[in-house]
Amino acid sequence: MKFYQSKLLNSFANLTHCFTTKQNGNLAFHVNDNPQKVLQNHQKLAQELEYDLETLVHMKQIHSNKVKIVTQEDNFQNPPTCDALITDKKGIPLMVMVADCSPILFYDPKKQVIAVAHAGRAGAFHNIVKNVIQSFIDDFDSNPSDILASIGPSICQKCYEVNALISLEAKEQKLDFALTKEGDKFYLNIRKILKTQLLEAKIKKENIEISKLCSKCNQNYYSYRENRNSGRFCGLLYKK
Ligand SMILES: [Zn+2]
Repeated sequence: MKFYQSKLLNSFANLTHCFTTKQNGNLAFHVNDNPQKVLQNHQKLAQELEYDLETLVHMKQIHSNKVKIVTQEDNFQNPPTCDALITDKKGIPLMVMVADCSPILFYDPKKQVIAVAHAGRAGAFHNIVKNVIQSFIDDFDSNPSDILASIGPSICQKCYEVNALISLEAKEQKLDFALTKEGDKFYLNIRKILKTQLLEAKIKKENIEISKLCSKCNQNYYSYRENRNSGRFCGLLYKK
């Protein structure tokens, strides 16, 4: 099995994390894949990373900025509807699924809190990052300067053409620093928006890691822009 890993998170022996690749197979049940096959992909990943699949919490992702504190009702069979998960509990793997959107893994080593977030264009425009950090602060007494954030493989700017309406929306939200125009085409840099939002939320520059791997340029990752019937790869994080 081949994973992409975060250098920031790799230094903590009590954490297990990864960003999967196509070699790990599709992990999403909602993309017209054979459910038995998807389940097998999950089972293999759970075995490889040594967690109990039943305790894994994934999400019914809706391109919102909603953050959910994991409760006992949340498990593999019953994923909550949200775009970010946060917990201080051990042995509960959190999973975010993507194909071009940005998977973000968060860790506060001081308060021992982990979180994952799904940030595509909508999530970035609605600043899901800010809500995640706010939950760290309000619900777990975290100090933003302790929090680490690792953004996994996602679509690069040159692969992310957006239409005039979206470029206008970016301008209205004062996100045009992440917009470039070539001829009559607009390209959006989601990573740049997320980095700016993380810095605005008082995350230290040295605690932010952004993968340069593009899900569309690089054939190891699922890409929705490449194929509308694409599977999903994941970012996963848990405390041992
Ligand atoms: Zn690309």
